[in-house]
Amino acid sequence: MRPQPTVDRPLVVLLSACLGGVGCGVDGGTNGDHASLRSWLARPEVRLVMFCPEDFSFGTPRMTPDNHGGNGFDVLDGKARSVAEDGTDWTTGMVKAALAMRDLALREQVDLAILMDISGACGSTVTYLGSRFAKDKLYQQGPGVAAAALIRAGIPVISQRDDRSLRMLRDLLDGTHTLTDERDHWEKEWYQTYFA
Ligand code: SF4
Repeated sequence: MRPQPTVDRPLVVLLSACLGGVGCGVDGGTNGDHASLRSWLARPEVRLVMFCPEDFSFGTPRMTPDNHGGNGFDVLDGKARSVAEDGTDWTTGMVKAALAMRDLALREQVDLAILMDISGACGSTVTYLGSRFAKDKLYQQGPGVAAAALIRAGIPVISQRDDRSLRMLRDLLDGTHTLTDERDHWEKEWYQTYFA
């Protein structure tokens, strides 16, 4: 078990760069406001490592890729494809970016990753099955390509929607124990209903 994080031995957290406030979203934005998450992670006992896999391979701004025929594990295994919104096959770039993120995480001895859910690269619990721009868009269980590479490397991955895990992490850092009914994304009503 990892010892209590200290200034000398900080918890190393890999963050989707957009969650960290970097304008690396497809439109150059940050995919929402995540100032609250950043505010409690900003402490000397935490060392943040930020990376945007899609920016690594395709730059910003860019088209939006989603995974067709399976989730990120399937893309890594050559059984599914990552496809941009105009139909261009981005599989090679998505896999290259995923492996670059994994290698960075291993080099930096990351303890865990907090990634942006739904993203075809960073999604950890839910991603789109096929294009998110389809009239009848579908969701699938499982991670995006970069999250899958991290999980296979043994790195725990949670998302910004995993409220219970984030609360436990915050309690660890604060040295407190909060009684809470917060739930991770897979425990929430939308997930339980959609994937029933
Ligand atoms: S690829 Fe990941 S880090 Fe980059 S914008 Fe999308 S969710 Fe954020």
